[in-house]
Amino acid sequence: MKKDYNQVWQNCLAVIKDNVSPQGFKTWFEPIKAVKLEDSVLTIQVPSQFFYEWLEEHYVTLLKKIIRKELGTEGRLEYSIIMENNLNSANPYTIKVPTSNRKAIKNPPVSMPLDLGETPIKNPFIIPGLRKLNIDSNLNPNYSFDNFVEGESNRLARSAGFAVAGKPGGTAFNPLLIYGGVGLGKTHLAHAIGLEIKSKFPDKTVLYVSSEKFTHQFIDAVKNNTVNDFSHFYQMIDVLIIDDVQFFSGKERTQDVFFHIFNHLHQTGKQIILTSDKPPVEMQGMEQRLLSRFKWGLSADLQVPSLETRIAILRKKMYSDGIELPDDVVEYLAYSITTNVRELEGALISLIAQSSLNKKSINLDLARQMIDKFVKNTAREVSIDYIQKVVCDYFDLPIELLKSKTRKREIVQARQIAMYFAKKMTKSSLASIGAHCGGKDHATVLHACRTVNNLQETDKHFRKYLEDLEKKLSIA
Ligand code: ADP
Ligand code: MG
Repeated sequence: MKKDYNQVWQNCLAVIKDNVSPQGFKTWFEPIKAVKLEDSVLTIQVPSQFFYEWLEEHYVTLLKKIIRKELGTEGRLEYSIIMENNLNSANPYTIKVPTSNRKAIKNPPVSMPLDLGETPIKNPFIIPGLRKLNIDSNLNPNYSFDNFVEGESNRLARSAGFAVAGKPGGTAFNPLLIYGGVGLGKTHLAHAIGLEIKSKFPDKTVLYVSSEKFTHQFIDAVKNNTVNDFSHFYQMIDVLIIDDVQFFSGKERTQDVFFHIFNHLHQTGKQIILTSDKPPVEMQGMEQRLLSRFKWGLSADLQVPSLETRIAILRKKMYSDGIELPDDVVEYLAYSITTNVRELEGALISLIAQSSLNKKSINLDLARQMIDKFVKNTAREVSIDYIQKVVCDYFDLPIELLKSKTRKREIVQARQIAMYFAKKMTKSSLASIGAHCGGKDHATVLHACRTVNNLQETDKHFRKYLEDLEKKLSIA
């Protein structure tokens, strides 16, 4: 039977959704349409060249895997790009696209061959008899020292990292523990050290692993009776980078096996680099003997970057993505998003995507609108109760009715709106939203969200209600 392109793409989307952030999904995948499927080639239409490049740069591995899964090894993906024929020169951002004949081709299909070899070995420690380890270091080449902007906020950690990279295992900084809040650059810096070591000492075996992955590998090893192989594998590493060690907290057996690996590596002069969201003194659920070892070397923190550093980070990012923005927009972003570099980058990306999608130029107004949404959506979470209260106040209804089972029309609508905002603005499950709103099940909530979405597209009064409510909820 011939496969339907829409169905194939829907299947792909379902997997993509589970593998990318909600923001990323919304920004980069929702605007895509599937257009045809011929000879195992699925063609998707993307809104602009920029979209295509972004997808290729950031999601190519995922897309390859998914297409292969859906369409078999023959499967390929082609992009059809909606022509940006009204690119006027007033557009303040430019994308440096290397293709010289970009205007000459209509809907240039860009194909992505899928004939890549097998993916690297997942669990190298199950391969017996490996002598010289030839493993994938799992390092992200984009997270280099070159791309890491130095500032007061990261100076100590950065220079300690640099020192370690120059003499792995040979400085007093062993282990080097980098700690700090979310999105402040711990993972980036950890990769940078690994990359630098790889380039200075190509023979050293460097391994980056998240503590989550480490834990899962360990659990598998226990299941498969291969704990010895697991430990041996890790004991052969020259530079072990473990990200987010706070994840080990409360996991006694994992801590135990890590303790032994740590000791072995440390005694044999190997370098250990750890990251964590807290300094050792504040770590909970961690064995004392492990904590005391974390303190042997150097703990260096990453702080919230200053305004200048935030601007510099944005500029660096823009430079490497080939984007230009007016100064006031850059400053506005840096002023508005203060505590998290990842969010800062996220805002920049959304802004570019928005502008590319709507073919609007990026100016301060667009930035303001976007930031209003972006910062509020990510930084705060309102409660379902609060949403119900705001909705009831707005429509002047008693809240008890909304929580009751009544099917009176205006109550049903208010209830649906409350459900819609609860889904949009909280992390609650559909089931728990339903339970809060008159003891409904998850299907009812889903239906409510769809109804609200449909109405908002077709009914302008209804849309106004939502906008008003959204405003009230966001200044909570
Ligand atoms: P963490 O691991 O602390 O949560 P990440 O290392 O994932 O944070 O950083 C979040 C994002 O911010 C990454 O894209 C990273 O490249 C970027 N970033 C953080 N600090 C810097 C910096 N000093 N210079 C450039 N980019 C940075
Ligand atoms: Mg991280």
